[in-house]
Amino acid sequence: MKITAKQIEGTRQLFYAGGKWREPASGEYLASFDPATGASWYEQAACGRDDIDAAVAAARSALGDPAWRTMTQADRGRLLFRLADLVTAHAAELAELECRDIGKLLKETSALAVMMAETLRYWGGMADKIQGETIPLNKPDMLSFTRREPIGVVAAIVPWNSPLYVLGDSLAPALAIGNALIVKPSEHAAASALALAELVEEAGYPAGVYNVVTGLGNVAGEPLTRHVGVDKIVFTGGSATGRRVAAAAASHLVSCNLELGGKSPNVIFADANLDRAESGIVAGIFAASGQSCVAGSRIFVQEGVYDEVLDRLVAAAREIRVGHPVKPDTQLGPIALKEQLEKVERYIKIGRHEGARLLAGGQRPEGHATRAGWYFEPTVFADVDNAMRIAQEEIFGPVASVIKFSSEAELIRLANATPFGLAAGIWTSDIDKALRFAERIDAGTVWINTYRSLAPTTPFGGFKQSGYGKLRGLEAIREFTRTKSVIVDYSGQSQDPFVPRT
Ligand code: NAP
Repeated sequence: MKITAKQIEGTRQLFYAGGKWREPASGEYLASFDPATGASWYEQAACGRDDIDAAVAAARSALGDPAWRTMTQADRGRLLFRLADLVTAHAAELAELECRDIGKLLKETSALAVMMAETLRYWGGMADKIQGETIPLNKPDMLSFTRREPIGVVAAIVPWNSPLYVLGDSLAPALAIGNALIVKPSEHAAASALALAELVEEAGYPAGVYNVVTGLGNVAGEPLTRHVGVDKIVFTGGSATGRRVAAAAASHLVSCNLELGGKSPNVIFADANLDRAESGIVAGIFAASGQSCVAGSRIFVQEGVYDEVLDRLVAAAREIRVGHPVKPDTQLGPIALKEQLEKVERYIKIGRHEGARLLAGGQRPEGHATRAGWYFEPTVFADVDNAMRIAQEEIFGPVASVIKFSSEAELIRLANATPFGLAAGIWTSDIDKALRFAERIDAGTVWINTYRSLAPTTPFGGFKQSGYGKLRGLEAIREFTRTKSVIVDYSGQSQDPFVPRT
């Protein structure tokens, strides 16, 4: 691989379309910053409308290329397996690129690269099992059947927090089914999508099947979502951008998936195993420095164990080792962007002003190792009211808002009182209670005595302002195919031209 953390340092990276590396039409480049130092480390092409046109033309041409159009589903599956093997072989380099780009712990980016390869394998196995149906008609000697066809050009717009893994959720089903893909990574995290282009090429995909346009959201992303040559949009990002993307999709009447943010409840009942619950709530809010769409950022604790859980959480937060994301003993790396760090700081002020009790963190850490980067201490707010802004708005940082509840009915009411509905967790030893919660909570994913467990086999997607559509699992087949109905008359009889064949 040429695109590795060492080799791209200090370089300018071109964008990738139609199997070629290209200069942006503007001739301009954008700096990408290393959150562990705050310094620029490489530059990416600042794509604009002309470059988007070129990428869409390349993707459309790939759809018409017999090498891709007539490829059998089994061969598409084989290509995905080959790509999965290449991702596995280069997982360490991909992980290092992402760690450098977004400051996520190297051990987490390494795990995510392996998980992305698993997604590719899941869809590699699925490719030749995607099929239509034969449907009986209320007529003799007639039948109808359905074909599941590729939709066409799919635009995948990817956020900065888990770029490669999130990309896998669109890339794998899109290519298993025979679509062509244009990826617009975040301007803060483009390196892994660019590196993947090398592996896609090495796997043997025809030119134009995978394309990457880099640059700013409103300059490169928006024209992509409005382009009439794009047939489907899969957007993963914040709710405000999601609204703009949905409006852009509506402007040329194409469907979109919206995988948006959350303010997920992670609930501890008094009958829970508190050791397990403690590790689950720490994983929910402090893993990835809280920059996870499914972050369990509202921690509901039942009154009988409220003080004990709070003590445990505060002690755990204070013990977390904040440091450079490459170091194996680091538990909490930097915040990926300076703006994001400043946003977290604004919410600390808001939480204090709203009257929540700040028990841990709330500031940038002291110390030589973390002074240069965009670090923030693991933070715990106690006695939070569910109506406070720190309980209602996505902070996207290591900030836990702890809320006390007494009864199951009160918990359901409060947990659902948010505009979001992405995920929820419950810790209890009472299975009846857990299943009642799973039924009544408005969330696309519910975890019982676990948190942040993800699998390519299991549908994922939010409710309410967390978006719509499902990625992963069998449900995703619908998102990346269009269904064609074919009706056949094999009676050998002419039909009456003036009576519909109902
Ligand atoms: P974001 O600001 O909404 O950006 C997401 C992507 O959209 C980026 O590639 C961005 O490019 C691009 N973009 C920005 N404006 C655009 C426009 N007008 N038209 C088209 N594209 C545009 O989100 P983010 O800050 O990168 O990511 C964090 C958010 O993603 C959080 O809310 C998190 O919860 C959510 N998320 C959701 C899931 C899920 O599966 N539900 C998974 C991961 C993250 P630039 O970055 O270059 O501006």
